Order: sequence, then structure tokens, then C-alpha cells
Amino acid sequence: MTNNTYTELSHSEDCEKHANQFIQEFPLRRAEIGQGTVIKRALPSRHKRMIGAWCFLDHAGPVTFEAGQGLDVGPHPHIGLQTFTWMIEGTMLHSDSLGTTDQLIQPKQVNLMTAGRGISHTEVAPANETKMHAAQLWIALPDDKLTIDPAFNHYPELPVVNQSGIEFTVLVGEYLNTVSPVKVHTELLGVDLFAQAATKARLPLNPKFEYGFMALEGTATINGHHLDEDNMVILEPGLEYVEVEIHDNSRVLLLGGEPFESPILLWWNFVGRTQEEIKIARDQWIAEDPRFGSIPSYQGERLKAPILPDSMRPSK
Ligand code: MN
Repeated sequence: MTNNTYTELSHSEDCEKHANQFIQEFPLRRAEIGQGTVIKRALPSRHKRMIGAWCFLDHAGPVTFEAGQGLDVGPHPHIGLQTFTWMIEGTMLHSDSLGTTDQLIQPKQVNLMTAGRGISHTEVAPANETKMHAAQLWIALPDDKLTIDPAFNHYPELPVVNQSGIEFTVLVGEYLNTVSPVKVHTELLGVDLFAQAATKARLPLNPKFEYGFMALEGTATINGHHLDEDNMVILEPGLEYVEVEIHDNSRVLLLGGEPFESPILLWWNFVGRTQEEIKIARDQWIAEDPRFGSIPSYQGERLKAPILPDSMRPSK
């Protein structure tokens, strides 16, 4: 009898563990990035470094400000990654060292900047803008693409699928037989899910992918786990579908990808593999090396590289 009870108990615990081993959630960190703009930072986190090649994820805003008081991020460099902006509300002007000048990004549009071996850019709110709400992400480039040519692409329109009361905008990769035009270099997914009225749906997953869910507006439930603007829900690879409930007027960002091939080093605006690569990039930025070009149209100062952490400074 005692034995049986024990067996029963351990069996049910195993089942519980089996059902939950694919899911975890963690809180987002809040930070201010200037001009009163609050961001919720999901990646990297000590709980989860990356989702596929997605290696950085900020939920910026929503914020309202006086005209002329919007974000103004001066020239700064990137290497080894793609920056990805999904605009929800407000507009922003992008300029870069490739000669792109004041490219306007509007709601429902994507900017993709491929840093490759090196680029610099600025992001400035237009003078008459009073709102900003965006998801800002970085995509790590795979080992054999780390030093590709820099590029900038503006995508004015992304494909939309309406199903189960959800508006799916396919930002990156393929979902529901719909392919995004955004060019990335690994197996990756990014989808914006919006529901005006509360709805439940079973969504297909690729068992090879790990996934992350972030609420950009409102709340949702992911396989029974509450999701709001202060947490992230992660699904480990191995699942074929997920049960979601999206509450009314709620927007959820779904990210996915094959677990990334190699550990990355992320410091300041750089993604690399070795400390030496990062240190060289920092020195070249400080020396105004042509690697990062220049943005003559921008009237302010370049951003200063922070001091390297002790662990990355050469020993004396
Ligand atoms: Mn940047």
C-alpha cells in the first residue's frame, strides 16, 4: 500500500515534469534609454540568452512626449548582427554609413540593418513626432556570415494572415504558409499576433525551434501561463503546437528559431566570437577607422564606446 501510493505519487510528479519541461517564464528588466523612454528588456537575460539567433530584445514604449523631445540616438557602430525594428506606433528616422539618409519607418513597417563586418547608424524621432512604440531586436549572424557586407533594408509592408480571430503579421521566416520578405541568415521566425476580441487558438510549432512570447499590448495565456508586459514565456524545442489565448485588444510577439550554433559574445553594440574581435572593433570605432564609415548628415556627437570590462582588458 505504501509502495503503491509512493509509485502513484512519483508517477504523477513525472507527468507534471514532462508537461512543464518545455516551458519557462521569466521577468523582464525595465530601464530608461533617455528622453523618458522606458524599455522592457527581455534578451539577453540570465534566464535565457537567445531564442534561435534572436540575441537582443527590447520592448520600447509605448511613450508619449512633446514634439522635439523624442529619441535622438547619435552615430554608433555595430558588427556581427542584424538590427531589426518593428514599429507599432509613432515614426523614426534612420540614417547610416552606407548613405541611407532619414529613412522614415512607420507603424506596421520593418527596418533591417545588416552590420556584417561593420556599419554605423543614427535613430532620431522626427521633429513633429509625439509617440513611440516599437520592438527592437538584434539577430546574431552565423559563424560563416559574421563579416558579410553591411546592408540596410526598409520593408514598407509585411504579409498578414487572418485566422481564428487573430491577425498574424509574418515579420521573419515562414508561418501559416506565408513567407516574410525579410532576409535573415538562419532558420528564424518572428510573428506579430493581434486580437481585437479575445480568442483561443492552437498554433502550429516547428519541433526543431525554441520559442519566446512577449506581450506588446495587453495580456495572453500561453499553454496556461500568464503573459503580460512584464514577463516572457519560453518554449523549448520538441513541441508541435501551443495553445494560446489572446485577450481583447492584445498584441503578442512570437519569436522562434533553431537553437544557435555557437556561443556568442555580446558587448555594447557588437556581436562576435572572441574578445579580440570585440576589442579591435572598439579601438577602430574610437580611432574613427573607415570600417564604420560616417554619417555626414547627422549634426550631433558620435556615441562613446564604454570601457571594456576587466575580463576583456589585456593583462599588464
Ligand atoms: Mn543601433
